[in-house]
Amino acid sequence: MTKIRTRIAPSPTGDPHVGTAYIALFNRAFAKSQGGEFILRIEDTDQVRSTPESEAAILNSLNWLGLSWDEGPDCGGPHGPYRQSDRKAIYQDHAQTLLDEGHAFHCFCTAERLDEMRKQQQETGQSGYDGHCLALSADEVKSRLDAGDASVVRMKVPETGHCEVADLLRDPIEIEWSQIDMQVLLKSDGMPTYHLACVVDDHLMEISHVLRGEEWISSTPKQILLYQYFGWEPPVFCHLPLLRNADKSKLSKRKNPTSIDYYHSLGILPEALINFLGMMGWTMPNGEEKFTLDDMIANFDVKRISLGGPVFDPEKLDWLNGRYLREDLTPEQLLQRLLDWKFNADYVSRFMPLVQQRIERLSDVAPLAQFFFQGMPTLTPASFESVKLDEDTLKKTLQLILWKLEAERHWGKDNIMADVKAVADHLELKMRDVMAPLFIAITGSAASVSVLDAMNILGPDMTRGRLRHAIEILGGLGKKKLKSLEKELAAIG
Ligand code: GLU
Repeated sequence: MTKIRTRIAPSPTGDPHVGTAYIALFNRAFAKSQGGEFILRIEDTDQVRSTPESEAAILNSLNWLGLSWDEGPDCGGPHGPYRQSDRKAIYQDHAQTLLDEGHAFHCFCTAERLDEMRKQQQETGQSGYDGHCLALSADEVKSRLDAGDASVVRMKVPETGHCEVADLLRDPIEIEWSQIDMQVLLKSDGMPTYHLACVVDDHLMEISHVLRGEEWISSTPKQILLYQYFGWEPPVFCHLPLLRNADKSKLSKRKNPTSIDYYHSLGILPEALINFLGMMGWTMPNGEEKFTLDDMIANFDVKRISLGGPVFDPEKLDWLNGRYLREDLTPEQLLQRLLDWKFNADYVSRFMPLVQQRIERLSDVAPLAQFFFQGMPTLTPASFESVKLDEDTLKKTLQLILWKLEAERHWGKDNIMADVKAVADHLELKMRDVMAPLFIAITGSAASVSVLDAMNILGPDMTRGRLRHAIEILGGLGKKKLKSLEKELAAIG
């Protein structure tokens, strides 16, 4: 029997997402329940959006959750390297094989031509690449390559017939080849696209089962075709249901905090978050809601995954976390968890200089610093009474700041300041009038330590969470207002 090998293949382009942990958990549970191996691969072919900070944060979060891997970029293994940017030559060789065997072709179409093609297609209702460069003769291709013309490599796709996608959880899905685009496999800079890199790596890393989010189902026909072209056996595919917001829309940070760091900062225990993610579409055979990763591995049966969209309900997570805190820890263990979390010199020393400026007694410290340990500060609309802005402008201001901070890639006091100032300038408001509600939203009080420093220390997730919370307390902004505000955001740049 072939060895069971699964993988998680995150792209390091942002905060470590709870969806990544969810997919990692099911891959690990499945592999370990079968005596197999679980691999971590970093898919950083998007060189513009990938950052080493994001990669480090993803690895840290998965480790914190106890979702360790047998092979990966940090610990190596026999199928490395495990970071796609270190495997460029491998993909280029494989793209060449496809070209040599007539399964792929060079495409010299410029961005302008492709734009023109899309415009025309809008009228005819067609989509996808029109095959323009398929007609080039071998001599023509050679002379253009020799002349150094920029080109990409695209895969050929059958003109007729259909592809059958088998999935562990679904009946086979049939997709007409005519609906599948002649996907770019290698970009003009020699970097592979996701499809080529994923197939080559899954094969070379001997992945037996691909468990991934169902948003990837539509990519599967192209990948199956690539396996055929290479003459390789495809892995078994299993597309897991997407996590959803309470309104059943796809889990998004606009409606729910999605970063693992946020839940850590809120004081959620890793075992509770794992348990909660395990409940997403899966149940223990005995129906018990509280279970450990080991319980899950011992009882794991992939067929027990239900496809109905699992709802990521933060209240349920709190309930479960409370049970772990109250039922599973001795007071000594609880103290240790607190010390590891934020009751430690590392964390406290970060805000000590801020607090020091404002105290007369040691006993003044705790009330002043309380918000550094809190989840959401206790707020009511009356908390904002002292603010000079009218209600509409107030909500608008907080929302625009929230969006600016959601897009902030480098968290730091100066950048936070620049974002807040950009919003104040755009709304033609005094900085003082914008800072006042920010103080209340972040610290829960009108008079506190420097709020920009506080935001820096609290970190992006907790800061955004509190802004979102304040907007909600103030009654939120309707859909219409949000839409028109989005246009203003674009104007701020
Ligand atoms: N890099 C993709 C992601 O970010 C991986 C998709 C897959 O598992 O094939 O989710």
